[in-house]
Amino acid sequence: MTDLTSLTLAEARKGLAAKTFTSLELTDAHLSAIEAARALNAFILETPDQARAMAREADIKIGKGDGGPLAGIPLGIKDLFATRGVRTTACSKILGNFVPTYESTVTSQLWRDGAVMLGKLNNDEFAMGSSNETSCFGPVGNPWRREGSNTTLVPGGSSGGSASAVAALLCMGATATDTGGSIRQPAAFTATVGIKPTYGRCSRWGIVAFASSLDQAGPIARSVRDAAMLLRSMAGHDPKDTTSVDIAVPDYEAAIGKSVKGMRIGIPKEYRLDGMPAEIEKLWEAGAAWLRSAGAELVEVSLPHTKYALPAYYIVAPAEASSNLARYDGVRYGLREQGRNITELYENTRAEGFGAEVKRRVMIGTYVLSAGYYDAYYLRAQKVRTLIKKDFEDCFAKGVDAILTPATPSAAFGIGEKGGADPVEMYLNDIFTVTVNMAGLPGIAVPAGKDAQGLPLGLQLIGRPFDEETLFSLGEVIEQAAGRFTPERWW
Ligand code: GLN
Repeated sequence: MTDLTSLTLAEARKGLAAKTFTSLELTDAHLSAIEAARALNAFILETPDQARAMAREADIKIGKGDGGPLAGIPLGIKDLFATRGVRTTACSKILGNFVPTYESTVTSQLWRDGAVMLGKLNNDEFAMGSSNETSCFGPVGNPWRREGSNTTLVPGGSSGGSASAVAALLCMGATATDTGGSIRQPAAFTATVGIKPTYGRCSRWGIVAFASSLDQAGPIARSVRDAAMLLRSMAGHDPKDTTSVDIAVPDYEAAIGKSVKGMRIGIPKEYRLDGMPAEIEKLWEAGAAWLRSAGAELVEVSLPHTKYALPAYYIVAPAEASSNLARYDGVRYGLREQGRNITELYENTRAEGFGAEVKRRVMIGTYVLSAGYYDAYYLRAQKVRTLIKKDFEDCFAKGVDAILTPATPSAAFGIGEKGGADPVEMYLNDIFTVTVNMAGLPGIAVPAGKDAQGLPLGLQLIGRPFDEETLFSLGEVIEQAAGRFTPERWW
């Protein structure tokens, strides 16, 4: 039955409907794969009993012909999503053994549509990171290795567990979140498909907040079609999140296979970085050529404020994080370190509960929001953000339907290889992705090729607000041309 783990979600849906196998069999196959892959450290909590119970229920519904669109499909859930009765920690010591009494809107919609929960997935602490190395549960292994090497590489982050688990065939899809690149960068590092939808497309209710004006949920999946199926269930208006938008959720799957003839695809000249590896440049050209041969028109565009995006992001995101993380004080949730008085209790709890990267962000955020520096840093960063957004608006106003860029400036790197002495080295991973969060736009990462060492590389497509459909249509053209990539099993 191990073959069941190599199906795409779309194939599994067919097999379940035709009763070729049951959801219980499909779920058991994935539970065994998870057990055999503990070396990857992708799952930080396995919920086999719950998974089997949900699978049995799905089988009954499928039998009666009233299974939902994801009936019986086993998924992994990033530990940033609150799951009722199941420990949720954001991979921070400060949440301890926090067990939510409520379910996030996004996950509740997946269960409404019949999906099965296999367990909770590792991520960078509070989603701060690009390598999954800041997690209090330790790093995650990328199922991909350099050819001829047995060095374990990072899967990217912060949704490293989600990407690793999907790539290693441990779950058929996973939830993820993206504040500056955390869906798209790990997808690119693992040859999976990840989409960050438009800000407001998915409810943020019940997702541990990092930077509320940038955070969006989205899926990591094995194919563009699978990502479309998952997003349809995850998306939608939610009165409990006032930033979620009341626009009907389209049938994203219908966009797959739609002609892209005549579409105008922008190539932003500012994304051609000095010192960019030749293979990234080559990949980008290949992507452009594939879209051109599918009938799209490629045009050079300019996004002049691109170079300010990363510095502005590292003001806005920490500012919001410092405010969001003020709630973890040892009184309300998880960890509590005693002190002689309440102030000391707060101090001891936060000193003990937060990791180094989180502390760095809280300090930067508090600094840029402080009375003397607010105008110089925070207000300025907000102005830059408006300009970045306007760059994209100008581009779309000229009739550009989507923008094509590399997803990351390099392939996956080794655990411990980056950011040790200089955190900016790690931050630079998101150079192509943060602009999209700053502008609130949808972005998809699709596997497109490999580097000289046999590691996967991805391309990113950026769309107009709420036009995820165009990204799915174009993404599928790239997927068809590049093919699918599966890592060789070593774990
Ligand atoms: N790597 C970026 C950061 O550390 C983005 C993380 C994310 O998207 N959650 O902030």
